[in-house]
Formats: sequence, C-alpha cells, structure tokens
Amino acid sequence: MDTTPNLNNSNYDNSNPDNPKVDVSNVDAAEIAKFEKLASRWWDRNSEFKPLHDINPLRVGFIDSKVDLVGKQVLDIGCGGGILCEAMARRGAQVTGIDMGAAPLAVAKLHLLESRLDIRYEKSRAEDYAVSHAGSFDVVTCLEMLEHVPQPAQIITACRRLLKPGGHLFVSTINRNPKAWLLAVVGAEYVLRMLPRGTHDYRKFIKPSELMQWTRGEGFATGELIGMTYNPLTQVYKLGSDVDVNYLVHLQAPAKD
Ligand code: SAH
Repeated sequence: MDTTPNLNNSNYDNSNPDNPKVDVSNVDAAEIAKFEKLASRWWDRNSEFKPLHDINPLRVGFIDSKVDLVGKQVLDIGCGGGILCEAMARRGAQVTGIDMGAAPLAVAKLHLLESRLDIRYEKSRAEDYAVSHAGSFDVVTCLEMLEHVPQPAQIITACRRLLKPGGHLFVSTINRNPKAWLLAVVGAEYVLRMLPRGTHDYRKFIKPSELMQWTRGEGFATGELIGMTYNPLTQVYKLGSDVDVNYLVHLQAPAKD
C-alpha cells in the first residue's frame, strides 16, 4: 500500500487535455466501479456513506441560503444514491439527478418509493446532458464528485452550459495539500476507517485556485467559498473558514451570454 502523496502532482495533470493518462470520455471506469460496489449501502447512515449523510444538512442549508430552492429547476451531477437530491426536493426544488453509476441510480430510484418524492434520475455524462438540456437549470450542484473525474474542468464547462443565464452553481471537493492528504486519505481511510481504502486519490484533489481558474474561464462570478471540517473527537461537522481539506463554493453564471 502506497499512501505517499505526490505533492508535486507531476503524474497527473488536470488541465492538460493531451495528457495520455486522461480518459477522453471523462469517466473513469474504476471510479464508477468503486461506487457501484458500495451502492446497496447508500442509505445506511452507518455505512461508508455516513460522512455524506452527516454533511448533508449543512450543505443543503448552505445552498438554500444562497438560492431559495422552492420551485427551482435543479440538476445534481454525480448524484449517487440521491442523498442531496432528496434533501433539495424536500425543500421544494424540482430535482434531476445524473450519474454514470447504474447501481447508485437504481438505489436512488428505489429510495423514492420510501421517500415518496418526485425526482428524475438519469444515467448520463454531464457533457452529454449539457448538449440535450442546455440553458435548462436555475441551479446545478456537483458535490464530492470532481475528485473522481479525469478532467474536472470539462465538467465545469458542462455546468455553465446547463445553467440559465444568472444561474447558480455549487461545487464541493477536496483541497490538495499535505494536510488534506493526512486528514482525507490517511485519517479517513486508514485511521478512522470512515471510508474504504482507495476511495480517494490524492493526485485528483483540487486546489480552490485551480477550481477558480476553471470557473472564471467560464465567466462564473465567485460567491462564497466555505470549508467543511470534521472533528473526530466530537464527530461533528461544521462549515467555516478553514478550506484546507473539504470545501464548498457558490458560483453564479453571467446574467447574459
Ligand atoms: N454527489 C453525491 C455523491 C458523491 S459520491 C453526494 O455528494 O452525496 C461520487 C459520485 O460521483 C458517485 O455516485 C459516482 O458514481 C459519481 N461519478 C464519478 N465519476 C463520474 C462521472 N464522470 N460522471 C458522472 N458521475 C460520476
């Protein structure tokens, strides 16, 4: 097992479309397989998905505080089993969730029988959905997904296409620095065993400055950038100014194209 971080990030270049290590489909089959394997436990609050359940009220609260979700057309990219989709639908949004994992989508659809919510789930790449549904959404969310994608910048381009003018984008991912490696990989996967080993590849973590470069390139204005921290002693998650590990950002598309 090699958990040594490549702090120079020299093997993996997020920004280079000619990088031969990058899958041109922008879907990493090995990443999708990881989530397919765990999918049946998606709604088990004590499973590998506990962290997503625990942070969900915080992130939905943040989103709803920036855009009143009532009546909004919302697309959730990389929706998995639908934890975020359901919470946004409960707040009155018209939600569509897309993912490339068949098993998480099947779980998400099954869970609607229990929750009795009305959510559309589709298997699609963000890039393809952006062609068929350009300019359709008031809000696009893409949480805890970019760090599993070969070319995350391409997803940001798709998000811009999917949004109506002035629409809102919410992105969360993991920062890339030694502290993030220590807490998000070593701490969460090896010490606390909150996540299966290999869930996260340090080299795919994204610095806020990199994300901002891509979003600025698409004309997004940056709203608030906020950190999500976990205290292992109290087992409590908080939103705050520490963006060293997990972070969540609110962005807004230009009012006119
Ligand atoms: N966004 C959800 C789930 C995060 S888990 C939440 O925060 O609650 C990451 C999800 O991204 C998984 O369901 C995985 O199948 C999906 N995913 C990974 N790569 C993807 C890609 N290229 N396109 C679409 N979904 C992808």
